Amino acid sequence: MNTDWKDIESRYYMFVVRRQPVVIVKGEGTKVWDVDGKEYLDFTSGWAVNNAGHANAAIADAISEQARTLLQTSNQFYTIPQLQLAEILVENSALDKVFFCNSGAEANEGAMKLARRYGARERNGAYEIVTALNSFHGRTMANVSATGQPHYQELFQPIPPGYKHVSFGEIEELKGAVTDRTVAIMLEPVQAEGGVNIPPDGYLENVREFCDQEGLLLIFDEVQTGLGRLGTLFGYESFGVEPDVMTLAKGLGGGVPIGAFMAKDEACAFEPGDHGSTFGGNALTCAAGYASTKYIIDNDLSGNAAAMGERMSEGLASLQSKYGQIEEARGMGLLWAVVFESDIGPDVVANCNAEGLLTNPLRPNAVRLMPPLTVSAEEIDQAMERLDSAIGAVAG
Ligand SMILES: *Cc1c(COP(=O)(O)O)cnc(C)c1O
Repeated sequence: MNTDWKDIESRYYMFVVRRQPVVIVKGEGTKVWDVDGKEYLDFTSGWAVNNAGHANAAIADAISEQARTLLQTSNQFYTIPQLQLAEILVENSALDKVFFCNSGAEANEGAMKLARRYGARERNGAYEIVTALNSFHGRTMANVSATGQPHYQELFQPIPPGYKHVSFGEIEELKGAVTDRTVAIMLEPVQAEGGVNIPPDGYLENVREFCDQEGLLLIFDEVQTGLGRLGTLFGYESFGVEPDVMTLAKGLGGGVPIGAFMAKDEACAFEPGDHGSTFGGNALTCAAGYASTKYIIDNDLSGNAAAMGERMSEGLASLQSKYGQIEEARGMGLLWAVVFESDIGPDVVANCNAEGLLTNPLRPNAVRLMPPLTVSAEEIDQAMERLDSAIGAVAG
């Protein structure tokens, strides 16, 4: 039997991602192990997904019990895990209703369809959505249009019309882009994929105020910032600004594929038949989502994210004073980017692997750190030591 997994991948799997040379076989908490038994601290968390840690026992128990009980019925019927997850999300957020789907892209598709229905009913057929440059909203055709990064769009023309992009953080530019055709503004509270960009003070408040004035919907794409990542259960709480519509996915299921969009009652413009999903809201993923969300709330993982984020921020600041090659370390909670003055990102990531630390090559000159929200102070310190050695080996 061929167990050269990298060879098998190159023969059978579509080449759409340059993988790191690590075959992961097992995880527990912040740690993962590769096929050779080497241990790593995982500061990628499956793209900010494993918020409650790898192989979390509460989530694993919920999944295995649900798998032996009921997986899928379709949304023609009521199922209990779906309603339990709906209740815990609504009761712990500023939003009133939820719909479950299977990914972040699908959550945004649903939110954008909801906005168009709202535009048809409340704003004379307005349909346009204004989003930010350097945003990331997903890989489906509509999300490619919504995403304000030309390189995601150029290869897939023609892409769906109805989107405008403005600089993130520039309120006057945003106001200038809005017309009678505009129905919604869609933003990530912190741009994640686009470089971990924190909005300037007051920006999101100003956007909220403008949306209220103009009767526009404010959609927050919290696919990456939701479920504790920024140090609050939802990212919007960190800024004191409530959206009308919010999308979730990555951290929602503890590792299983689930997405959601939530809305205030006034924004719930759908009627029966307007939207649907075969697998969305099935009993298995919702049981996992409920167990994960409950674990995050009961164990105050948001609070731990805030505290450990503070510790990481201090660690990164001392690395920055040691290495002139670090231009900036920016982030919130447990979502951080280390930006270098030159394109040493890939070398730093490779050296981190050798040291036993998994990181994400965000840009040629930047590395992203996003550990599980269960990470301990000791693990943060260990990761900072490994990052220190990894940068030292490149920067000297
Ligand atoms: C990852 C991400 C998406 C897309 O989610 P998928 O589950 O990969 O479709 C959308 N928005 C943001 C902010 C993301 O980080």
